[in-house]
Amino acid sequence: MSVVVRFAPSPTGKIHVGNVRTALQNYLFAKGQGGHFLLRIDDTDTERSTKEYEAGIEKDLAWLGMQWDSKENQSDRFARYDAAAEALKAAGLLYPAYETGEELDRQRKLRRAQGLPPVYDRSALKLTDADREKLEAEGRKPHWRFKLSQETVEWEDQVRGHQTIDTASLSDPVLIRADGTYLYTLPSVVDDIELKVTHVIRGEDHVTNSAAQAEIFRALGAEVPHYAHTPLLVGADGSKLSKRLGTLAVSELREEGIEAMAINSLLAKLGTSDPAEPRMTMDALIKEFSFEKIGRAPARFDPAELRHINARILHETSYAEVKDRLEALGVTGGEPLWNAVRANVETLNDMKTWQDIIDGPVTPEIEDAGFAEEAAKLLPGTLDDSSWGDWTNAVKEATGRKGRDLFMPLRKALLGQAQGPEMGPVLALIGREKAAARLKGQKV
Ligand code: GLU
Repeated sequence: MSVVVRFAPSPTGKIHVGNVRTALQNYLFAKGQGGHFLLRIDDTDTERSTKEYEAGIEKDLAWLGMQWDSKENQSDRFARYDAAAEALKAAGLLYPAYETGEELDRQRKLRRAQGLPPVYDRSALKLTDADREKLEAEGRKPHWRFKLSQETVEWEDQVRGHQTIDTASLSDPVLIRADGTYLYTLPSVVDDIELKVTHVIRGEDHVTNSAAQAEIFRALGAEVPHYAHTPLLVGADGSKLSKRLGTLAVSELREEGIEAMAINSLLAKLGTSDPAEPRMTMDALIKEFSFEKIGRAPARFDPAELRHINARILHETSYAEVKDRLEALGVTGGEPLWNAVRANVETLNDMKTWQDIIDGPVTPEIEDAGFAEEAAKLLPGTLDDSSWGDWTNAVKEATGRKGRDLFMPLRKALLGQAQGPEMGPVLALIGREKAAARLKGQKV
């Protein structure tokens, strides 16, 4: 059996870390099996779907390194859904129902009050042809419900283990709305059948849906694919991520300077038994992926952890790999600057800050002007990476200062701040003239 998976975003917004995790689970699994990664654009909702969002999804996936093997748009496939709907109607498995939203609400409340499960009571199945004609003459348009078996659906979930769902506990799902548009349920099954999807890997919010869809697969004469339902992503404190997803869009993270492999490294491992460690290539993540490692508890996403992994990835990244992006950011210091400060950046955007500090103007922080001036006098004629050591030795001898008392005032004078990279290469980059001026308290 050759593996086919699909990542099926709706182009009604940008993709965010939650979607990326689902995409990765599909991509990493498929690639580990020599399988096919299908990008399915779920754009049956033609009102809310846009081509801009679709283009954004493609850009983000490609940027993350999840190149799809093929792509389908549901909006190109309505004729197939119509054919499937007709087949289900002919089999008596798709029936018209006429209740309004309010009527259904009332029905649910009533059932709850009677201690019954708040599921659709199937009144529509009792309608005669004459009843239907009358309702339609009143101007009512039917929506269409799939008739569940009211038996038990079982499957071996790749993540959740053995699953049993009694479809008598579910409402017959609406497949077609009164305005004739499709809900997600049927198109997804039709596509999974026709595109020969072998594994449906998605969030556990789809579990009940999967039971109904399993019956639709069978009703359409197909086998049910393997299911893998993974726990949802939540915030670091266990809260829902939904409100913050805007800032957790892939495009936002890219703008912030987060690396694609930092996002992949973290999201491939969140909620698994593997620790989240920086990985430089997708191949490494593919080799390490396994459904068995995915736990049952919600996976906690912490933006601080992402930044931490990002920093560690940058520390291992060569100049050649970031050259073009640094130039685009206006960072002109080239490889010497990269080597001097990369250990101190969290994101590539931070490089601009260091470029500005080295270029100046910087307001020196000087606590003891006499000491700083004396140090200035001892600066060697030309500066290279080893000058810092020679110079600070000379300053130590001349002033008797050592340790923090010696180094911190020099750092603060030269950088205008206490924190920063190793001073040797940085001093050379600042250059003699500017270094001397800063030690004298000049803003240069
Ligand atoms: N478009 C659906 C969603 O985003 C796809 C779910 C699925 O993978 O079947 O929830």
